[in-house]
Parts: sequence; C-alpha cells; structure tokens
Amino acid sequence: MPAGVDLLIVGGGPAGSTAAAYAAAAGLEVAVADARAFPRDKTCGDGLTPRALAELDRLGLAGAVTGRVVNRGLRLHGFGGSVTAPWPAGGAFPATGSAMPRAEFDRLLLDHAAAAGARILDGHEVVDLVRPSLRRVSHALLRGPDGEVRRVAVDRLLVADGVRSPVGRLLGRVWHRDHVFGVAARSYCATGRAEEWIHSHLELTDAEGRTLPGYGWIFPLGADGGGGQRVNLGCGALATAGRPARANVKKLLRHYAGRVRAEWGLGEPERVTSALLPMGGAVSGVAGVNWALIGDAAALVNPLNGEGIDYAMESARLAVHRMLAAPGDPDGLTHAWPALLREHYGESFSLARRLAGLLTRPGFLPAAGPLTLGAPWAGPLMGAAARLMGNLVTEADRDLVARTWRAAGRLSAAAESRPPWA
Ligand SMILES: Cc1cc2nc3c(=O)[nH]c(=O)nc-3n(C[C@H](O)[C@H](O)[C@H](O)COP(=O)(O)OP(=O)(O)OC[C@H]3O[C@@H](n4cnc5c(N)ncnc54)[C@H](O)[C@@H]3O)c2cc1C
Repeated sequence: MPAGVDLLIVGGGPAGSTAAAYAAAAGLEVAVADARAFPRDKTCGDGLTPRALAELDRLGLAGAVTGRVVNRGLRLHGFGGSVTAPWPAGGAFPATGSAMPRAEFDRLLLDHAAAAGARILDGHEVVDLVRPSLRRVSHALLRGPDGEVRRVAVDRLLVADGVRSPVGRLLGRVWHRDHVFGVAARSYCATGRAEEWIHSHLELTDAEGRTLPGYGWIFPLGADGGGGQRVNLGCGALATAGRPARANVKKLLRHYAGRVRAEWGLGEPERVTSALLPMGGAVSGVAGVNWALIGDAAALVNPLNGEGIDYAMESARLAVHRMLAAPGDPDGLTHAWPALLREHYGESFSLARRLAGLLTRPGFLPAAGPLTLGAPWAGPLMGAAARLMGNLVTEADRDLVARTWRAAGRLSAAAESRPPWA
C-alpha cells in the first residue's frame, strides 16, 4: 500500500483500467483500487460494437478480442419481420464487432494497466475520503482484504466505481431517474449454432403476452472449448421513475430463452444475474477540482443500445488527457469535465434518451413497432436505425442520415431543461 499516489482510480472495470493504462503510460504514479478480487464477474451482455473495437485498438488490445470471435452486424427481429444490418463500412469505425465474457475482458484490461506500470490493489474497497474543501479530495481510506483501513494521499482521483457509484455519492453525485434508465438480466447458454451476427429481438413480450419497452439479445461468444458454442443471452427493459419497468427481468429472460430455444438449440440459461443501467448522462455532480467520475458512475451508457463498455473506455481516455493538459487550472475539472462530456456526447445522448424515453410511454411501442421491422421499408430503415442506435455517426460523416441525426441532436440538446451532466 503506497503512502501517496499521483492518481488513485476507484474501480478496476473498463473505465478504471483504461484510465490507469493511459495515466501510467504518461508517467504518473497510479493505483487502481477495486473492492473485488480479480478475475471478477460483472453483469453484462459482453457485447463490443465497432465503436468499442476502435477504442480497444487505441490500447493495442483489439486483436486479443477479435482473435476469439467477431460478428458482422445485427439481425433485428420482431413485429412480423427480420432485418440484417451489417456494421457500416468505410467510416471511422471497423465493420466488425465482438464479444468477450466480462470476467476475461476486465482481466485483460487490468493486466494491460499493470503492464503499463499501474499498481493494482484488487480486494481493496474505498470506504471514505478526506476533503479539505467541498471540491477537493486529499486522501482516500481503503479497506484491504485483511479488514484494515489505511489512508492514502492522493493528488488526483478518478471515480470509476460503476452504476451505484458509492464513492461518487460521497462526493455528491446524484442520479436523475426521471430520465430513462435500464434494468437488464444476462445469462450464459450453450448452443449448437456457430453464428457471425448478433441478434436482437425488439419485440420483447412477457409470459402474459404484454409488449415491454426494451429488447432481448443473443451475443455469440464463440467456441466453448468442448466442441460446442456459447452465447450471452439476456434482455433489458427501459424505465423512468414515473414509468417503472413492471417486469421481473430474470423471469423475462427465461421466457425469452424459451422462445428462441428450438431455433438456437439452446441449453438452459446459466449464471442468470440482473443489474441497473444508468443512461444518457443523467447524473449531476461529476467533477471537482482534482476529481472526476467516468464510465457508469457518470451514466455514460447509450440509451438506445445499452452500450457502456466503450463509453467507459472513451471517458477514461478523455479524463486522463484533460487532467494532464491543464494541471495548474485552479477550477480544475469542476466545470471543464462536464463541459467536455457534453461536447463529446451531449447532443447524441440527449436525443437518444429522449427517443428511449418515448418507448416507455404506454401504447407507443405497439403502435410504432409494426411500422418498423414488418413494413416494406424495413431494410433501409433498420439499416440506418442500427447505425444510429450504435452511435456510429461522427462529425466527419456528411450523408443525409448523419446530417439529420446531428441536427436533431442539436435541437434536442437546446431544448433540455436539465442537460446531461448538469
Ligand atoms: C445486463 C447488462 C447488460 C449490459 N450489456 C452491455 C453490452 O453488451 N455491451 C456494453 O458495452 N455494455 C453493456 N452493459 C453496460 C456495461 O456493463 C457498463 O456500462 C460497464 O461495465 C461500465 O464500466 P465501468 O468501468 O464504468 O464500471 P464497472 O464495470 O461496473 O466497474 C466498476 C468497478 O468498481 C468497483 N467498485 C465499486 N465500488 C467500489 C469501492 N467503493 N471501492 C473500490 N472499488 C469499487 C466494482 O467492484 C467494479 O469492479 C450492460 C449492463 C448490464 C447491467
């Protein structure tokens, strides 16, 4: 246990490990504390979009993932139709996706951070902070595996402690659940089917036949080592505080697995777990002078597809670069960090959470659903939708879909009464 570090990172998930790798490579003395001992499981769909692969590529880790399994895009099902939407080619992102169980993926990233020079304190929970003023942190209190609580002096702090963000809460983080959030369950299933597409069922029904706002997914994970294949199968529902998800997502998952069992030759769902997803930057209190929240702690999850691994890694990279770029700024990260998040994701997340919020309105999905997958225009419409849902549009894209999406994002952000991260 060091007496002090340049940067302490709370949480060794994708956000924390990525930040540690960049900061250690830049020469900072970095420690990553995670309450759990690694390898550890994390409830997740394990899916990696082209956007996530581009981010992994910056770390030199894309090959470690794509060497195991790749997918070519999405097969979307529901409302009387099925559409194949390949990942877009020729843009800023690769035209492939992948998936890796989080126990292995997070270990890969944490090992990478250690190799870059970060000190890994797994099994160490950050239980309290010392703050000489409201906006500055001077020490962290860590409880180690022996139960002892030790004090570490910190120059800077990155909080990457996930959806519930206990350390973020100590610092005043507030999660606004009047904006849309997710509740989702995942499982691992054996299958006889080798598949190069990820599958999403957009018409998610419960055992009583009610259509719920959300989707079911099957993400192929490749060979299981015993001659078969395995998939991550799960489902998630969207909700707001005012319109809670009236569903037991673990029950919903078993019902969904039953629906697709014959087609996929599925075994029983194993290791079924569920968790919440914060979305669309719906938190405030994300930074002080020498600290910032990243990843799920800052609600960096795309409301339209539930993707958070990529944004955890992206926000980690941005936060470390911002810390290193302006070390003497007396206001530090207090205003700069939420402003930087809004600059990068404000418009797309504002629009995405507005659209996802619409889906939670009773009657909207049963009315709008049949106009999508089952309609004669389903092919082009859902191809564009898959690109937008994956936030695979960049400033450089000049086509009509991209320009319309960006314009709608600007309007949505301008109309926000509480912008993301405000
Ligand atoms: C069911 C489900 C399916 C999902 N599917 C996908 C998907 O397919 N693709 C995708 O991109 N995203 C998916 N997500 C979202 C994704 O899992 C998260 O966005 C991602 O894990 C965020 O990474 P993170 O590093 O911010 O947090 P986490 O991965 O949650 O890591 C936080 C870490 O902080 C540690 N910690 C917490 N408190 C403390 C403390 N006090 N002291 C020390 N350590 C602490 C925890 O032990 C944990 O290891 C899914 C989420 C759910 C719930």
